[in-house]
Amino acid sequence: MKIQQADETWRNWSGSQHGCPEIFKPKKIYELQNIVKSHAQIRAVGAGHSFSALVKTDAVLINLDHFKGVVAFDENRTQCTVQVGTRLYDLGEYLAPIHQALANQGDIDQQSLAGAISTGTHGTGIDLPCLSAFVEAFELLTAEGELLQCDRQQNTDIFQAGRVALGSLGILTKITLQNRPRYKLKEQIRLCPIQEVFANIDQWKHQHRHIEFWAFLHSDQVMLKTLDETDEAIQPRQDAWPSEDALLTLCSELTRRLPAANSYLQKLLSVFVKPTCYVD
Ligand SMILES: Cc1cc2nc3c(=O)[nH]c(=O)nc-3n(C[C@H](O)[C@H](O)[C@H](O)COP(=O)(O)OP(=O)(O)OC[C@H]3O[C@@H](n4cnc5c(N)ncnc54)[C@H](O)[C@@H]3O)c2cc1C
Repeated sequence: MKIQQADETWRNWSGSQHGCPEIFKPKKIYELQNIVKSHAQIRAVGAGHSFSALVKTDAVLINLDHFKGVVAFDENRTQCTVQVGTRLYDLGEYLAPIHQALANQGDIDQQSLAGAISTGTHGTGIDLPCLSAFVEAFELLTAEGELLQCDRQQNTDIFQAGRVALGSLGILTKITLQNRPRYKLKEQIRLCPIQEVFANIDQWKHQHRHIEFWAFLHSDQVMLKTLDETDEAIQPRQDAWPSEDALLTLCSELTRRLPAANSYLQKLLSVFVKPTCYVD
């Protein structure tokens, strides 16, 4: 169950936060309870994608990667109860057979459910709240090793605070989500002059379910992305070569080593972005 000694280093996704904790990876709830009861200083980690020192510790770190999957669902209410270590990138596959989908997500899908909920992770969409707003109930393991059921009827104060608690109230073990029936989104990406974006963004943000853009500061073009619900047939993403991510990573690395190249690379990047459209 213990996977790492205290002299090894834990790092978050970017490497900006690190520590030398004793790491435990329990498989069963009673193992988790025993760890909690026998240690004083504990933090929980999901995917380690938070930027600030939320997870960093030299004491005990609990990894909940073994707590995965859907444990119950309610077809009539379109709700499901999920184990907290489930990664968002797996959740779509778990929800597909029960015809449910998350109402929204952030830019990436690497987070654990508990990590995303605990930090109020949000996506774009002027009418869409953050993921924590879709939490209907959760189970929380307290420092005494007690499992509390929290929702709008029981342990209400803990339920309200615990939906974005940065791991401070205890360890979440299960979360019940209000989902919605499966739906399709159409994603469109194109280059757009920055002046046009500034002139129209207040109107566009109400016209699209999602809208966001990436500005290249040495170019007057931005990469504009919109997502809208659609009934159109599935149109798979055509993977370009090199992919945008690979291109951005390459340019970031080059710029880090050769700062003088920055403005040329940023102009080039906007030339490489091809208009894309897909439905899934
Ligand atoms: C490349 C990148 C893109 C991102 N994009 C977005 C975005 O579009 N929108 C957005 O809002 N955020 C975004 N984020 C931030 C990210 O969503 C949050 O930092 C999120 O918390 C990461 O989830 P995690 O599973 O890695 O959590 P971790 O970083 O591992 O933990 C986050 C917090 O949750 C607590 N925690 C974890 N598991 C439990 C548990 N079982 N019980 C109680 N507490 C627990 C931890 O103790 C900690 O306080 C991004 C981050 C990166 C690196």
